[in-house]
Amino acid sequence: MEYCPLCKARLSRSVACPRCQSDLSQLQQIELQTIYFQQQALKHLQDGYELGALQAIRQVLRLQYTPFNSALHRFTLAKHIISVDKG
Ligand SMILES: [Zn+2]
Repeated sequence: MEYCPLCKARLSRSVACPRCQSDLSQLQQIELQTIYFQQQALKHLQDGYELGALQAIRQVLRLQYTPFNSALHRFTLAKHIISVDKG
């Protein structure tokens, strides 16, 4: 998170916005969890474990719905369906 979602001030490393003093710690936690599950999804895809990747990307979408995460979900779902079809 580079900018405060409330006042658009550029953020430093602190948990409070330097301009409006909003506590951004929960948003920062969500951002860290999102990155963690994105990395898990990519690692599982790399390992050929599509079901694990799908579970991880679904966690990502619960935390942060973006066009990129949505596309990653569709891609992972397609790979999973193909792997199930192969048996
Ligand atoms: Zn702010």
